[in-house]
Amino acid sequence: MENERAGLDLVSYIRDELRNKDVRIILRTGQPGQAPEKEVIIKYDINDYKQKSELTVDRLFTSLIAALRSYEDLVTISNSRQGLQDILEGSGQLFRNQSVHQFLSGVLTQINAIFHLGDDAMLYVRNLASPGGEEKVMAASGKYDSYMGQASSSSAFPSMVRAAIADTLARKASSYEPGRFSIYFYSASVYEIVIYIDSGRELNTLDIEMIDIYCANVSLGLANADLLETLEAKVVGRTCELAQANAGLEQRTRELESANDQLRQMAMTDPLTGIFNRRYLLDMGTKLFSLANRYNWDLSVLLIDIDHFKAINDTHGHAAGDAALIQLAGLVRKRLRDSDVFGRIGGEEFVVIAPSTNAAAAAQLSQRLMETLAAADIGWEGIALKFTVSIGIACSDRADKSIEATMARADSAMYQAKHAGRNRYVLIEAPVDPRMVG
Ligand code: GH3
Ligand code: MG
Ligand code: MG
Repeated sequence: MENERAGLDLVSYIRDELRNKDVRIILRTGQPGQAPEKEVIIKYDINDYKQKSELTVDRLFTSLIAALRSYEDLVTISNSRQGLQDILEGSGQLFRNQSVHQFLSGVLTQINAIFHLGDDAMLYVRNLASPGGEEKVMAASGKYDSYMGQASSSSAFPSMVRAAIADTLARKASSYEPGRFSIYFYSASVYEIVIYIDSGRELNTLDIEMIDIYCANVSLGLANADLLETLEAKVVGRTCELAQANAGLEQRTRELESANDQLRQMAMTDPLTGIFNRRYLLDMGTKLFSLANRYNWDLSVLLIDIDHFKAINDTHGHAAGDAALIQLAGLVRKRLRDSDVFGRIGGEEFVVIAPSTNAAAAAQLSQRLMETLAAADIGWEGIALKFTVSIGIACSDRADKSIEATMARADSAMYQAKHAGRNRYVLIEAPVDPRMVG
């Protein structure tokens, strides 16, 4: 040694600078007084301290063998730590949500990357859950790539691999023969898996333990992927069912809506003529009446009754009478404003409720309607049906309590027209408002 501290300096260089904690160091000194044993062994990371005088050949041999053994143990521990780390990192990636299929091809890639077993490999799965225990190659690489998806019973399957897989599945245990490995494990009580690998590598006990740990991890991951796939399939199934149920519901809703529309239409329509019926006329009339009353708007009611209608029925039959009613409805409707409400309130009696229409305008409208009907070619099956109408007019007034009161006055005006000889309109005077009297 160049100087008396050189040995100790080398120790700190190996441990501190090179960071090598594994190499075994035996310090051999000729000057025990310079570096006291207790102090040195505590201060420096050395494994033994021997004075030259006590280091006989036998003692040196014993020390060396002991140091080599402990070095071997250290290397084993360090390798297994590294291997475990690789497995944890590798299988961690496998746990990402993915399908069983993706998961299994990941396994094959990884087992090779972690253990360097060789590229010619296949992953064979027997699915005990499927009918007849379906089995096939679920992942393959290297020269086995082309067997992807095949069962070992297929004629093209390499016979040696077929025998190895059959043997492994029968024994339910891995085998590591020189040149080829069959690794067996199962998952979720559903999948039996054989990873078959042509490998030039020899495996030691540690390798095999690590592969076992890896496979246990994979087995867990596979159960996860399987669960995920089942759940996803269930979700897809339920979504489909819901979509169907929804479509059915929408269809039912449309049908109901259209049935409702029809009912609403029927509830307000006179079936023979298609114009409004008595009920709708009263509903609408009530609303228009209260508006007219509140804002002091004009509102006129015309009650139209066909003169001697019975005679049409008696002469030409009921169907001719119906035809006359239908045609009258169409002709009158055409002469009215959109805001006028027109309906049939009885056999041959019709009502017009005309908002914003005063007595003079109502009289004009009545005149126009009578002229229209007189000029029209009303007929049935080639027979001309000539008729006139009598119209009673009442204008809404504060003295009326409701639209029915105004309509009743229009009705009596119509009777006055009848008595006066028919084919005319009569405008009834507004009743005296009791509030205006006195
Ligand atoms: P007036 O001039 O006094 O009004 O005499 P009219 O014959 O028109 O009146 P009346 O009340 O005597 O007769 C009305 C007729 O209308 C009697 C009835 O059979 C007929 N009628 C009622 N509803 C309908 C219907 O929907 N279709 C047909 N064709 N006739 C109907
Ligand atoms: Mg009548
Ligand atoms: Mg009549």
